Amino acid sequence: MANSKYIYVDGNMIPYEDAVVHVNTVAVKYGSNVFEGLCVYEGQGDNFLFRAHEHYVRLEDSRRLMQVDCDYTIDDYSEAVLSCLHANDVTGDAHIRLTIMITGDGYSETTGPASLVCIVGPRKPTRLEDRTKHAAVSSWLRQDDRIAPPRIKAGANYHNSRFGLLEARRNGYDQAIFLTLDGKISEGANSCLCMVRNGVLVTPTITSSILESVTRSTLLQLAAEELGIPCQERDIDRSEIYSASEAFFCGSGLEISPILSVDRTPLGTGEIGPVSRQLWEAYEAVLRGRNQKYAGWLTPIQAARTGARG
Ligand code: PMP
Repeated sequence: MANSKYIYVDGNMIPYEDAVVHVNTVAVKYGSNVFEGLCVYEGQGDNFLFRAHEHYVRLEDSRRLMQVDCDYTIDDYSEAVLSCLHANDVTGDAHIRLTIMITGDGYSETTGPASLVCIVGPRKPTRLEDRTKHAAVSSWLRQDDRIAPPRIKAGANYHNSRFGLLEARRNGYDQAIFLTLDGKISEGANSCLCMVRNGVLVTPTITSSILESVTRSTLLQLAAEELGIPCQERDIDRSEIYSASEAFFCGSGLEISPILSVDRTPLGTGEIGPVSRQLWEAYEAVLRGRNQKYAGWLTPIQAARTGARG
């Protein structure tokens, strides 16, 4: 990600190079932070933050579950993101990382003080073809609610994704698929997973050791409402994925990433499937403000700057 000019830290815009933390903070020593990754899309007449409110609510949930003391509210999260976008004069597509990190020193049980940080970076639009993946079922299992709840979007949780991804890359794959402790399909590294079997879009339930993904719930809604595709949230056995006609990873950053093969077994024709393609077209139309039905999911950036209401 290219560097932006300024980083938001606790209400101040700090030049990129100067936004540093002390090596003795709990955030550095134990990875004690919670965060969100959300996107800006260039669209009809403005640039739009996609489902920002849902990301702020999840950040607040993560903060509470991680027992991080800080007085910021959802309005402050919104203010941090918008002021950082404006300070950096973001015009095209962009990715935003909004983090609450424990900046106090002490041991792992330290709960504060904490800082709110927003980093913005420009991002180039990609095509579905650029995001295809060959995946492997990981020998690492997905972490579990009884150990380190995956519904908390905490930096420290990403050690699990890291193990899976490094193993997959070492073995010549692009992405890892994790199983739960019970051997059911959970999610990908840094993404959720959906498959199409017998014409039904199927995805693991929110109690399958997944992050409660904004993209996953968006795509389920669009599949049902815009494409009339039946959807199921249910347990998925490992063996089912090999007979899926298509599957994809999804997430705010990964958008829809078609899975062409799992463990070198091609899914369907081994090409991008029709549901993945139609869903991507429907999703992109929403992201870029071309489908007014879902305009409520978009926060116009420039309109927010001038105070205009669009
Ligand atoms: N699972 C994990 C572990 C993730 O890191 C992400 C990316 N945030 C997702 C799922 C997808 O979540 P979302 O659609 O909210 O970005």
